[in-house]
Amino acid sequence: MKNDIHPDYKKTTASCACGSVIEVGSTKENIKIEICSKCHPFFTGKQKLVDTAGRVDRFRKKYAAFNSLAASKK
Ligand SMILES: [Zn+2]
Repeated sequence: MKNDIHPDYKKTTASCACGSVIEVGSTKENIKIEICSKCHPFFTGKQKLVDTAGRVDRFRKKYAAFNSLAASKK
């Protein structure tokens, strides 16, 4: 490795939205993540909606409006 051109690689923690904290090596510090191996449905084996940005809600609202529009045309 060349000297003085690489960012500092150090140990830090990545904290997930579910509350679990994982120790990782990174050039960044105090990383925030939305999903990890402890809460991802693939690893938990449970079907669970992970809706951190409200996208599912937005889709449901949009679809509800579409349904009422279709009903009023009959
Ligand atoms: Zn998690």
